[in-house]
Order: sequence, then C-alpha cells, then structure tokens
Amino acid sequence: MKFRTRAIHAGNAPDPQTGAVVPPIHVASTYVQPGAGQWGQFDYARSGNPTRQAVETTLASLESGCGALAFASGMAAIHCVTMLLQHSDHILAGTDIYGGTYRLFHKITPRAGIDITLADSTRLEAFTTGLTPRTRLVWIENPGNPRLTISDIRACAELAHQHGALLGVDNTFASPVLTRPLELGADIVMHSATKYLGGHSDLLGGALVVRDPELLARLYFVQNATGGVLGPFDSFLLSRGLKTLDLRVRAQSATAWQLAQWLANDPRIDRVLYPGLPSHPGHALAQRQMDGAFGAMLSFELRGSFDQARRVAQSTQLFQLAVSLGAVESLIEQPASMSHASYDPSDRQRHGISDGLIRLSVGLEDVADLQHDLDQALDALDAG
Ligand code: PLP
Repeated sequence: MKFRTRAIHAGNAPDPQTGAVVPPIHVASTYVQPGAGQWGQFDYARSGNPTRQAVETTLASLESGCGALAFASGMAAIHCVTMLLQHSDHILAGTDIYGGTYRLFHKITPRAGIDITLADSTRLEAFTTGLTPRTRLVWIENPGNPRLTISDIRACAELAHQHGALLGVDNTFASPVLTRPLELGADIVMHSATKYLGGHSDLLGGALVVRDPELLARLYFVQNATGGVLGPFDSFLLSRGLKTLDLRVRAQSATAWQLAQWLANDPRIDRVLYPGLPSHPGHALAQRQMDGAFGAMLSFELRGSFDQARRVAQSTQLFQLAVSLGAVESLIEQPASMSHASYDPSDRQRHGISDGLIRLSVGLEDVADLQHDLDQALDALDAG
C-alpha cells in the first residue's frame, strides 16, 4: 500500500468489539492477568498499551521499519538511544543538531563516561576525522537544524558500519514523507513527534523506528526499564496527526519553496538557507535524497546583527515567535537566542549559527499572507 493509505490504515483496524473506525483510547494502567505469574498480551501500561502500540505500528510502516517505540518526548527517545552505549564509548555527531541534543550529548551522556565529538556530517572527509576506535554511535540530523544542511545518509551509514557503529538519524525536519533513512541504510530513525508527525502543536512526543528486531528488543528493554513512554491520549493525537502527514508536509513545503525564492531575491536578506534553492550547498543531494519536495523549514541570514534579527523575529504577526516547528501554524525564531541558546557560543560561531540567523517553520496559511507578514517585519529593519 502507498504511504497515504498506510498513514490511515496501518495500526488502525476497526475496533473488533464495536466496529468503531477509530480505535478507542485505552486508559488502563494495569491489566488483569490469566493467573499469577501468567502474562496476557498487556500487563502494565509502561510495558505496553494498545493505543500506543497502534501508533507504533503506523510509525513503523511509514518509516519502513520492523517496529517503532513511542516516547514521552523527542529527547526521551534520543536519551534511550544513548543508553545502548557503555562507559568509554564515543558518539560522533553532526555539527548541525538541535540545541537539546547538543545539551544531552555534552552535559548528560558524559556523566556515564561516554564522550562526544561534533564534526561536519555534510563533508564525509571532515566527518571521518571525528571517528575514534571507540565510536559506537554516529548521530546526524537531516536536514540539519538550524542551517538546513543536507547529509548523505547512505554514505554516513556505510561509514558508521565500517567502524562498527550504529547510524541514528534525527528525521524530524524531513519527516518520512520526504526522507526514509532506514531505506538508505540507517539503523535508527528518531523523531520529535511533537513536530510534523503530530502537526498541530498540541502534543509532546518522540519516536524511534528501526529495521532490526534485535535492536528493537534492546531499545524496548531500555524504554521499559526507564519509563519514558508516550501516554494514551498523546498516542491518540499522534495517530490522528499521522493521517494527514503527507498532505500537510507537501502543502507546507510548497509554500516554503515559494517563500524561499522570494526571500532569495530580497536585498534585505544576506543569504537564504533552503535545500530547494540551487544556491544551497546540499541542493543536488537533497534532490536525490528527498522525495519530491524540500521541506517546510527555512532559515535566512540578515545583513545585520543579533539585535536586528531579534527585531525582525519580534515583528511578525502571523509567524508566531516560538520555538518548535512542524505544525499548521507558522513560527519564527532566532536560533542564537532560542532553539540553540544551549550551545556553547564558540561552538555556535564555529558551526555557522550566526547571530543574524532567523529560522522559519512554514505552516499551512496562505502563502500571500505569509509573504506580506515577512515583508512588513523586514521593514522593521529599515525603521531601526
Ligand atoms: N530533534 C529536533 C530536530 C528538534 O527540533 C527537537 C525539538 O525541538 C527535538 C529533537 C527534541 O524533541 P522534543 O522537544 O519533542 O523533546
């Protein structure tokens, strides 16, 4: 079955008892057992819940995996992956990663004796130099956050495997509509389901999808032992969001593409970072790796400073000033003071996250209204 069909039907069989076309939300925290020491399909909600299981089935199908695990947040999902590692292991991660992931890798995982190197995953030679004999996990975000960098997933998978490491890909920005990393050789796909998968800014969730049942079992063991599971109500919301994922991502991407072209021709803008523009260094790779569109995230650099970028970000009316992304309403933010504030300032500078950078999450509003909104906000620059 095709993607859109699976988004609606995989994991969503009618309720056998009532015929309801939307499966019920199962709220029970515990389940009656057939006998002492005997276990039914479900026993306790941390270990398994039918509503969560249903959405995990949909996620596995959409990401071409053998199974999925749904978490209470994207960070809980990434944390679960790091708990596969042991003392003295090493993580190699791309430079363009979410600020919260940066913080986890620098402030939490080192407590367990696991160290981290950041290197540019868009240039394989540079990325290779970050490997050590102890590297067990290679972690990339694609497109990267916030510069929309594009990494060659197949090449990164080969690199990781040659060195006995797993490749994990944070696929939050692309969503499985546009990129399916497991099909390109990645071992683990991760999502902040809070973003496109949920799609309506009304749930916090995370997901891991894998193609190896043995790896799934290891991750499930950690998830069950540590407890960061997605609750039944959020599992329902996520399931509902997934049904329109393809429509939303494609429509939002079309709008982002139009805005990127318009901004690229605006003299008030220094540089637009959008993989759909031929000027983007990752454009050719994105054309091969992404499925018919380039996503709905775009960043641009102003000719001005930190204060000017802040002024523009604070001057939009439709684009709301907020972190997060991927929902029907458009958002604007300044990475240096918001999503990437937890970066060490020197790392921010080294990795090209400039003070004048602004990131947009393009929603489902009419493109003309969004363009008008950005236009009047950029006028705030002139006024200053
Ligand atoms: N990965 C990316 C690319 C993100 O943008 C975020 C959150 O903004 C996360 C991971 C973390 O997800 P969550 O906020 O759901 O914990």
